[in-house]
Amino acid sequence: MSINTSTAATDTAAWYELALCAQTGPGFFFPEPGSSLRDAKRLCGACEGRAACLEYALANDERFGVWGGLSESERLALRPGRR
Ligand code: SF4
Repeated sequence: MSINTSTAATDTAAWYELALCAQTGPGFFFPEPGSSLRDAKRLCGACEGRAACLEYALANDERFGVWGGLSESERLALRPGRR
């Protein structure tokens, strides 16, 4: 996963230090269309930075990949005005 540091809050580094995905390649969290997200989500489920990661993704409108254990469409569904 890559972080857009231009919009990252100063505490981003704190949760990113906990990021289990830092030990994997980006393809794990940004799979080809139609690929399974199961393994990425499973890793997120064990990540101590999950809540902060999801908060970051929602605050920064991250559109692609798995963040905080949620897919793009799952994050989109959390946005105000979306159901
Ligand atoms: S919750 Fe998932 S995407 Fe976020 S830092 Fe942890 S492992 Fe990476």
